[in-house]
Amino acid sequence: MCADASSPTVTLIIPVFNEEAVLPELFDRLTAVFNGHAGCRWHTVLVNDGSRDRTAELVRQQAGKDPRFELLELTRNFGFQAALAAGLAHATGDAIITMDADLQDPPELLPALVARWREGAEVVRAVRRTRQETGLRRIGMDVFHGLFGRLSDFPVEANTGTFGLMSRDAVDALNQLPERHRFFPGLRTWVGFTTGDVTYDRQERAAGEPGQTFPKLVRYALDGVFSFSRLPLRLLTYTGMIISGLGFSIGVFFIVRRLLGIEIAQTGFTTLVTLVLFLGGVQLIGIGILGEYLGRIYDEAKQRPLFIVRRSAGRP
Ligand code: UDP
Ligand code: MG
Repeated sequence: MCADASSPTVTLIIPVFNEEAVLPELFDRLTAVFNGHAGCRWHTVLVNDGSRDRTAELVRQQAGKDPRFELLELTRNFGFQAALAAGLAHATGDAIITMDADLQDPPELLPALVARWREGAEVVRAVRRTRQETGLRRIGMDVFHGLFGRLSDFPVEANTGTFGLMSRDAVDALNQLPERHRFFPGLRTWVGFTTGDVTYDRQERAAGEPGQTFPKLVRYALDGVFSFSRLPLRLLTYTGMIISGLGFSIGVFFIVRRLLGIEIAQTGFTTLVTLVLFLGGVQLIGIGILGEYLGRIYDEAKQRPLFIVRRSAGRP
């Protein structure tokens, strides 16, 4: 895989947020993979996204023992996407791999990703053959992918997440995208490049609780939709047109009846209340959708950095 003289550097970017429970196993399994494929020069950047447990300490210990590990500390919890962006901005290396810390993305797949890259793919996506999420989380993800596929101009493969590899050039291109509300799989599709896939079975989280709580996932999904599609705005316009058309037709209908002298009964309270509530609702949804876009413009206009790095420990 990396057997020839060139021995490329492969940098791993792993955002960590309160992951003390999985880190020992993560380090063990990564080290085993690295040692098994010593032809590549492996480097791991663990981006500590404001953890409140012993995560930073454990990473620092590991970096002290093994220079292939490095800690990049953010000043607070900026969220998974920002932590990922921090890692990508920081990553040197000929190929950059993005993965979760919780071992849902198995480290044993890394050689396959690198091999696919060596065969010529500049972006390698790890595609899940099976998933582990269940219940509300799973339903939410399925609904999101269905919706995103229909709405976006850049549909992403439904069974991919952040796990994958990007070449130096692809990461440089991605780092040029300055937007604040980031949806990584969408951005990765947007930059283009030759794309290849590697399939795997998604694992259970090895230990600990998901830091990506359900509300965070919903926000992430909204970022995906509103950063990659203007279709919601167009749908509003269409809805407005349809309702106006209906209103006009009903108006004409009643005027004609009146002119023909057909008596109009003074009932219809229920109809009226329903209509008022329905139209009020549609308008509020419309304002909400406008607000989603406006809020994003507001955030972009402020030009705040996506993340603040505290210090870089363990970097050679
Ligand atoms: N994570 C993070 N910041 C957060 C939440 C999560 O850096 O605010 C990291 C977390 O440590 C893990 C990865 O993001 O490495 C994925 O998180 P999680 O497993 O909770 O989410 P999933 O995507 O599996 O639902
Ligand atoms: Mg996870």
